[in-house]
Amino acid sequence: MADYKLVIGGEGVTTSDHLDVKNPATEQVVGRCPIATDEHLDAAVDAAATAFLAWSVVPDEERKAAVCRMADVIRENSEELAELLTREQGKPLNGLGSRFELQGAEAWARHTATIDLPVEILHQDESGSVELHRKPLGVVGSITPWNFPLMIAIWHIAPAIRTGNTVVLKPSPYTPLSTIRMVELLNEVLPAGVLNVVTGRDDLGQKITEHAGIQKIVFTGSSATGKKVMQAAADTLKRVTLELGGNDAGIVLPDANPSEIAEGLFWGAFINNGQTCAALKRLYVPDALHDEICAALVEYASKVQMGDGLDETSILGPIQNKMQFDKVVELVEDARARGARILCGGTVPEGSGYFYPATIVADVSDGFRLVDEEQFGPVLPVIRYSSLDDAISRANASESGLGGSAWSSDIDRAKQVASQLECGSVWINNHGMVKPFAPFGGVKASGIGVEFGRQGLEEYTSIQVVHS
Ligand code: NAD
Repeated sequence: MADYKLVIGGEGVTTSDHLDVKNPATEQVVGRCPIATDEHLDAAVDAAATAFLAWSVVPDEERKAAVCRMADVIRENSEELAELLTREQGKPLNGLGSRFELQGAEAWARHTATIDLPVEILHQDESGSVELHRKPLGVVGSITPWNFPLMIAIWHIAPAIRTGNTVVLKPSPYTPLSTIRMVELLNEVLPAGVLNVVTGRDDLGQKITEHAGIQKIVFTGSSATGKKVMQAAADTLKRVTLELGGNDAGIVLPDANPSEIAEGLFWGAFINNGQTCAALKRLYVPDALHDEICAALVEYASKVQMGDGLDETSILGPIQNKMQFDKVVELVEDARARGARILCGGTVPEGSGYFYPATIVADVSDGFRLVDEEQFGPVLPVIRYSSLDDAISRANASESGLGGSAWSSDIDRAKQVASQLECGSVWINNHGMVKPFAPFGGVKASGIGVEFGRQGLEEYTSIQVVHS
């Protein structure tokens, strides 16, 4: 059984305590994750602070080249990382699984290397000039979830490093091993201390948010934890970027063609087994199309193979952990008990692992837990509507505001609906397709700030205005 190490100041550091990381497909232990003490965290923050002195003044072109080298390292080691990711996260190697995640991580690093934040001239005349400069913040604490551990880590660390900050990264206790391995590899092309990783349980996240030596927190996780992060960060007035939970609604317009949109709807909802922040989690369909859309979704679901992610033929894997598995079962059983129809899936297969089949649920409505709460799993509730305005207001009647979608043969009509949805991203005829150049973030309880693109990069900087 492999024991993994923390990475502090470019060195592997062993700990006396560990926690077991399980493969959700087999419930067998994959490896042992180190548990960092307070002293380890202090050492990681010190290493990052020391590295910041030099890294923050390295010429921009050198930092761009370093982030490109990070992308190269991810590409060169993608098979090793994908396999480890599948073992601990459960997602399949194929489909929209581990290899796809590694491709995303590489693409994001490569694109982030190209974005510039040039000095802006705000004013210039014979009396002088006013210039806006962007400066790095210092040590960034990055806290990541278990659904896309590697891609989300890159979403945090590439822009931080690109802009001259240094990083202390803490992955989820459910999926820390692939992140540790990726950080070890990235340290081969980064100066010591620029990127450190500490691992442990949730309390380590709280200690990071409270730590006086850290200037900013970038956090991706649930809205409940995001609120705690913001509170804990307040004492030291840290900058925060919070990418939180979603309960995204999709609205099918009456002119949509069910057979044309079924595949997009299915993957909008079931990407990563539904364990995706901006997945389609509630689908509103007009009465006239309801049965046809349900049938098309059920037919598509029947073709998608679920199994151990290491099997090259699997397209969906298990749910990542027992806690999430139990929540999904509970929400479906609650809906069933209240008279919902389970059109496909909805039963736990025999055998080990946290497998749950792709499940489509009809005869549900707002007020059901499955509709009102974020299921974060392979279940899609299909909700009828008779008035489009009513569907829009039900879609907006949620604390969350991460993503949304409108599905129609008429793009302009779909855009009109999209503009009325209260969310940070809205897609027409697809759901959840993020791009490295397009800012991504939530409104309402789905977060604060954005990632990606120039606006995402700016969040890792402070403004200094130079008047001359
Ligand atoms: P979580 O909030 O339970 O955990 C996220 C991370 O926070 C983990 O590393 C955890 O150890 C750490 N943590 C736990 N308690 C903490 C505390 N008090 N202070 C600081 N850190 C703490 O979330 P999860 O279950 O890992 O991920 C699922 C959630 O994340 C879902 O709600 C999903 O929608 C959301 N998510 C959002 C995005 C986005 O971009 N908006 C992306 C992926 C996931």
